[in-house]
Amino acid sequence: MSSTVTPHRKRDQASGYAAVPREEKQRLFDLVKADARFPDYLYGCYECGICVAVCPSARFYDFSPRRIAQAAAREDVDLVYQQIQEDVWECSQCFSCLRCPRGNNPGGIITIMREVAVNAGLASAKEALEGYSRIIYKIMSTGTQVSPDMLQPDAFPDWGPEVKAVSENLDLWRRALPPETHHTTTTGWAVAERTLIELYLIWMETGALAMIREVDEGLHMILEEVMEERLEEEGIEL
Ligand code: SF4
Ligand code: SF4
Repeated sequence: MSSTVTPHRKRDQASGYAAVPREEKQRLFDLVKADARFPDYLYGCYECGICVAVCPSARFYDFSPRRIAQAAAREDVDLVYQQIQEDVWECSQCFSCLRCPRGNNPGGIITIMREVAVNAGLASAKEALEGYSRIIYKIMSTGTQVSPDMLQPDAFPDWGPEVKAVSENLDLWRRALPPETHHTTTTGWAVAERTLIELYLIWMETGALAMIREVDEGLHMILEEVMEERLEEEGIEL
């Protein structure tokens, strides 16, 4: 689908943000360029299209890592703004595009653009991350990812009757797994207390927790409470 879309059409889409002041677009682009990783992620572009050929998202969406690299290299402020609002949420962050012969990292540029979108509290960022609240909560409060208790028949209709049978006996299935750290249904695996405390401190100190506030204030409040309570129990003062 994406390969049939011309840069001209993308440019037309960029003009959909004509009402946004040029200064604001420039401000966001400057934030992208000011990121310490940016110089290592972009060295120009041969326009060879190798990144597009290996990109899974380019097969399914109106999306191209080449356009991302080109827009940034050409300092096309309007197009970069359109990409921050739309394209960046179509990347699956697999980093196959690291095969770039120019040494670019389009997926890395997208990571920076996403962070800028989140920190700026753009509506597009809130919308893109809306469905991930529960997953973010799980990861940041327990230190592990999607947990078995999220395995609900309604959420996995394509599994047919299997998922119902598994979800009804979840405790049994988990206890049957060899590693003891997997004998839990509320977390993917049990994280050591010390590791969890370290993760809380990292998320707080690096600003990752503050980024959540920009996209979901309610979730941020809950996470902050969980983390602060745990740190207090450990006698750690921030
Ligand atoms: S990281 Fe994003 S842009 Fe790069 S190949 Fe994967 S999906 Fe495509
Ligand atoms: S692989 Fe690299 S040089 Fe080739 S189009 Fe993509 S970003 Fe440009």
